[in-house]
Amino acid sequence: MLNIVLFGPPGAGKGTQSQKLIDTYSLIHLSTGDLLRSEIAAGTELGLRAKTLMDQGILVPDEVVIGMIDTKLKENRNAAGFIFDGFPRTVKQAESLDSLLDQNNTAISGMIALEVNEEELTKRLLLRGQTSGRPDDQNEELVRKRVQEYNTKTAPVAGYYANQGKYHAINGIGEIEEIFTEICEIIDSYATQLNA
Ligand code: AMP
Repeated sequence: MLNIVLFGPPGAGKGTQSQKLIDTYSLIHLSTGDLLRSEIAAGTELGLRAKTLMDQGILVPDEVVIGMIDTKLKENRNAAGFIFDGFPRTVKQAESLDSLLDQNNTAISGMIALEVNEEELTKRLLLRGQTSGRPDDQNEELVRKRVQEYNTKTAPVAGYYANQGKYHAINGIGEIEEIFTEICEIIDSYATQLNA
């Protein structure tokens, strides 16, 4: 299986690149942010609890997102692989993902990190807020809170994959197509290793 973690702070372009990747590769896109927003839209209890935290720019508890990912992995046992977008966001989530994949005799192939500085992220998220309808994109304080959550809780996940020799960083500022090409080169090298 080809399992890629698309990593980076909020506003780095993970969603945009994921959409392009699923058009190119037969991989299943798993975005915990999208899954949580679906729960909110469906009015489930999980969604209602998550919304309170999401509206404050705070991460939801590890158990909640790990449980959602576990369900999705079980529903898609025969998939060619997955693109994980916005997950794992803590080292605990990364460790749990490793053991869930191990139960299915597979593993993360590599992490691709999109690097974008905080000023650019803030600008992009506030611009997205004008059209996305996402409550957490609407004001600068909330956007900065999300970046702060990323810096304290999520950034260490990069080291987790670097220790496994799976970390690749890409400059996330530039033309969408050029960034996409760089991502594809990394994925293709993993796909070649799989087929060798
Ligand atoms: P995103 O769409 O990835 O920007 O996520 C939006 C919000 O959903 C985040 O600010 C968190 O509150 C929550 N969220 C999404 N993914 C996770 C995750 N893996 N762990 C914890 N919270 C998450």
